[in-house]
Amino acid sequence: MADTMVLRLDRVGRRVLVLGDHPEAARLLEALDVPQEALAGWGQPLPAGVEAVAADPDLETAVRDSALLVVLDPDAADAEAALRHARRHRVPAWVPEQPERGDAVPAADPGRGVGRRSAAGVDDPELQEPEGQVDLPVARARGVGSVSLVGAGPGAADLITLRGLRALESADVLIYDRLVAASLLDHVPVHCERIFVGKQRRDHPVPQGQINELLLRHAGAGRRVVRLKGGDPFIFGRGGEEIEHLMDAGIPFRVIPGITAASGCAAYAGIPLTHRDHAQSCAFVTGHRKDGVLDVDFRGLVRDGQTLVFYMGLHSLPDIRRGLIAEGMRPDMPAALIQQGTTRAQAVLVDALETLPEKVDQARIQAPTLLIVGEVVRLRQRLGWFRGTGEAMAWAPREAGEGTSPPE
Ligand code: SAH
Repeated sequence: MADTMVLRLDRVGRRVLVLGDHPEAARLLEALDVPQEALAGWGQPLPAGVEAVAADPDLETAVRDSALLVVLDPDAADAEAALRHARRHRVPAWVPEQPERGDAVPAADPGRGVGRRSAAGVDDPELQEPEGQVDLPVARARGVGSVSLVGAGPGAADLITLRGLRALESADVLIYDRLVAASLLDHVPVHCERIFVGKQRRDHPVPQGQINELLLRHAGAGRRVVRLKGGDPFIFGRGGEEIEHLMDAGIPFRVIPGITAASGCAAYAGIPLTHRDHAQSCAFVTGHRKDGVLDVDFRGLVRDGQTLVFYMGLHSLPDIRRGLIAEGMRPDMPAALIQQGTTRAQAVLVDALETLPEKVDQARIQAPTLLIVGEVVRLRQRLGWFRGTGEAMAWAPREAGEGTSPPE
C-alpha cells in the first residue's frame, strides 16, 4: 500500500501535508521515502526541517491539493477537520498513532458494512468485523494500544493464518523471534518499527523480562504491537508468560494461533501424527536442556499407539534414545528427524531409534529440527510427497539486509 503511494507521489509531484509534530517524526517521515521538499507543514509546532505550507488560503484547499495527509499529532487543533477534508476530497490520510483513523494503513471498519455476521448473529457493531474478527474491540478506542501475539507458522512464510497476516499489515511495532520466515517481515507497513528479540550475537537471548517490558512500553504508548513467534505461540513458545504481564497491566491483547512445527513438519514429511491403525494419541515433548541436563520424565511416554514429537531435541538425541529404550520402547522403532520442515530447505532423516543419533552428522542435519518417533513414521514411505533441497534457508534477520544462518 505504502509503496503504491510513493509511486503516485513521484508521478503527480504534489506535496505531502504534515499536520503537527511527533516525538518520532523523523523516523515516521523517513518511512514515507519522499524528498524533504515534498513535505509541507500545517499548524504549529512542526517537525524540524518541515516548512509551513505557503500560499494556501485555507486548510481544506491545502488538504485537497496534497497527495497525502499525515497527521502526526491526532490531538492538534485542526486534525479532525483535516481528516474530514481528506475524506471528502479522497486524499489518503495516515495517522501513525491511530491507524484506525487513517486509510493509508487500512483498519477494519465495521461501519462500512463489509463485515459478515456470525452465525450466532452478534448485534454489537463493535463485534462485527470483516471475516468474523471479533477480537480487540477495546483497542480501537482512541489512543489505546494493543498486543497481538501471533503464531508465524512452522517455516514457509505463507503458512501463517489470514488473521495473523492482517495483524502484521496494521502493526506499528513488530517484535519478532528467530524461527520466523524472513519474508514475513515485508508485510508490515513502512512506518512499523521492527525489533528482533531472538538470540543475539554470541547466542545470548534477549531476557524474557526485557521482552515483557518492550511489549508494555510500546502498547502503553498507544501502538499496535505484533509479537511474532515461530509456530504456535502457546506451544513451547512462552506465549502464556507474555500475556500474563499484559493482563496485569490492563493492556488489550489477543492470541492468534499458528501452525505448530509438529503439524507443519509432519504434513510436509508425509507422516500423519495419528492414524486409525497405528496411533491413537500423540504427545509433544520438549528436548530442551536445562543447565545441560535433559529434563524429561520418560515414564508414561512409551505406550502402544502413541506418537511422540520432540521439539528442540537435536542436541539431546542420545539422551532421548536412552530414556525411551529404558522405558521399554523397541530399539527398532522408526524415528524421523525433520530439518527446517515445510521450507524449501527441508530434509528428513528416517532410521531406527537405536541408530538414528549416529547418522545425524553424516546427513549434515541442521537446526531447527523436529523428531517424530512412532509406527506412523513408516507411512512416509507411501505418503511422502514433498522433497526439499536440504540447503540452509533464510530465517528472520536481526536487521534489515543482514544475512542469516539457521538458528537452533
Ligand atoms: N512455538 C513453536 C516452537 C518453538 S520451540 C511451534 O509451535 O512450532 C523451537 C523448536 O521448534 C525448534 O528447536 C525445533 O525443534 C522446532 N521447530 C520449529 N520450526 C521448525 C521447522 N521448520 N522444522 C523443524 N523443527 C522446527
